[in-house]
Amino acid sequence: MHMKDCIKTKKISFKYHASKTSVLEAVFARGDRRLSKVLYKAWQKGCYFDSWDEHFYFDRWLEAMEECGLTVEFYANRHRELDEVFPWSHLDYGVSEAFLKREWKKAMNAETTKNCREQCAGCGANRLLERKGGKCVW
Ligand code: SF4
Repeated sequence: MHMKDCIKTKKISFKYHASKTSVLEAVFARGDRRLSKVLYKAWQKGCYFDSWDEHFYFDRWLEAMEECGLTVEFYANRHRELDEVFPWSHLDYGVSEAFLKREWKKAMNAETTKNCREQCAGCGANRLLERKGGKCVW
């Protein structure tokens, strides 16, 4: 609320939601297949209208996690090494993992990457487009 109170202009809109919702989003954004059991257990406990604040039961989600032998901290609050195999590592979405790691290191050093119109950064997305006969540079 402090941040919201600091905004004195109508040119800036400020949106937020409850931190507990964000924690759960972090868990599922980084989660693996073991969370399917958590989802099912939480559903059995009555968690099914979670986007409505009055129906969001964080404690039931925590119970479901615990009953599955999992923790929020493992998914949402730990440092990950760059050589960790992620749940989504087997997916090919065009952009290479090597590129993402390079970008992460650059971000940690406050370095920027030129936009694609200036210079290709070699993200790998061109492979997908070339298969369809297209190019990714505008
Ligand atoms: S030009 Fe294409 S391949 Fe190069 S960085 Fe941009 S999107 Fe990726």
